[in-house]
Amino acid sequence: MNGTCIEATDKINEAIAHKVGQQRYKIWFKNSTRLMIEDNYVKVGIPNLFIGGWIENHFAEHIHAAIQEVTGKSMKVIFTIDPALFGGQRRRQLDSQAEFLTKSPTARRRQDFNPNRRTNLRYRLDNFVVGGANQLAYSAAKTVVMEPRTHFNPLFIHGGCGLGKTHLLQGICRAVHENRPETRYLYVSGEEFTNQFILALKMGKLDLFRSKYRQTDLLVIDDIHFLASKKATQEEFLHTFNAIDMASKQVVMASDAPPKMIGQLSDSLVNRFLSGMVVKIDTPEMETRCAILRQRAAEIDRKIPEPVIEYIAENIRANIRELEGALLKVVAYCSLSRCEVNLVLAKEALEDHIARTDPIVHLSDIEAAVTTFFGITPADVHSSKKTRTISLARSIAMYLARKHTTMSFPEIGRFMGNKNHATVILACRKVKTFLDNPDKPVMWETSLGRREMCIQTLLDKLESSINR
Ligand code: ADP
Ligand code: MG
Repeated sequence: MNGTCIEATDKINEAIAHKVGQQRYKIWFKNSTRLMIEDNYVKVGIPNLFIGGWIENHFAEHIHAAIQEVTGKSMKVIFTIDPALFGGQRRRQLDSQAEFLTKSPTARRRQDFNPNRRTNLRYRLDNFVVGGANQLAYSAAKTVVMEPRTHFNPLFIHGGCGLGKTHLLQGICRAVHENRPETRYLYVSGEEFTNQFILALKMGKLDLFRSKYRQTDLLVIDDIHFLASKKATQEEFLHTFNAIDMASKQVVMASDAPPKMIGQLSDSLVNRFLSGMVVKIDTPEMETRCAILRQRAAEIDRKIPEPVIEYIAENIRANIRELEGALLKVVAYCSLSRCEVNLVLAKEALEDHIARTDPIVHLSDIEAAVTTFFGITPADVHSSKKTRTISLARSIAMYLARKHTTMSFPEIGRFMGNKNHATVILACRKVKTFLDNPDKPVMWETSLGRREMCIQTLLDKLESSINR
């Protein structure tokens, strides 16, 4: 990149700030985007699809106009993910972005922004690192790929967030497609299945829906726990499952909880799930974490010294997604300092990150305290169930997470069952409203009947059991 280009991008940034206003510029562009002028187009680096989608939908015209103004030409704008921007945003900025999204009635639609529109399958089995914690799940996945008729149906994979369930499921689909191109497969999330079912019901198109799902050789449903407490969808899914099973075709599912722990799943579904093969993915051992980091480093073509790999793997244990994020952050930090990656810089780069992700332990302590107190399970908290007790417990867990960790709203949401940042914001507001009305006790149900307590007393009790 030469000096003129840098100057030009500075000017374009200024022009964008002028057009969208300083405040919005600060929230959406600063530390969130990086412009690069190529021969006949401008690349806008974005930290993730969500932010990218928002910017594309709201500011594409401003960006175009700013480019035209500065360069005198109308240039194409291309959005790409830029790892150097990962983790560059401060908590306050993440919160402001989340607030904006929450207020926007159309925010949900934007989630499907996807620069790789050609395919929605990002992962492959051949770069899945196998270790003790995921060995069984991987072998089962391989069996589904190799054998058109396995002796188990369904294959049910469960495990915590960011441990590779989606990777395995998408990997199965791609490998099946490559090995046996004639196989008809369907990959959907539990949420998509539910939405399509409801839409079909409303539009009187159940026949179409049914034939689509029942005439498939391999049905893969991710995040099936989304069906918790959705009775009609569960029933429909049971019929779908039976039809596929009768035809000796395969069903594969993933969930963040084992079948029995998914709240309000009908007994017949639970039994169906248990009649197949249920495998768990555990958090990976040190050795696997190192192997994953080495592989990622090779993929991005960077040499990472072994002590740095070990430092990252040692400090980030709970979630592979975070592990990868940390590696990218170290790489970006070192490039900015124009140095080779080394341990001193890695420690510096991750100081903040480790302080922020360290509370994962803390978060599980909070969850443990809250679920024990209310007599529910962590899976209930992660579900979308809205019974009085569970939603109270969930709100309180989120409120305490916000109070006792430095995590942002989106981060808390992600760790508590992949919830939207909006859910966390609303939960915190709800608890604050209780606190503002101290005379009105909060109520919940237990197996021994209804209980009530002043919110402050309740929080005090929980906080003392967390800190013990
Ligand atoms: P989950 O669906 O369980 O929440 P994902 O499948 O989305 O988790 O995995 C999170 C990230 O970690 C992805 O980028 C995925 O590629 C990576 N990952 C998880 N497990 C492995 C593994 N065994 N080998 C390589 N990458 C992995
Ligand atoms: Mg997943």
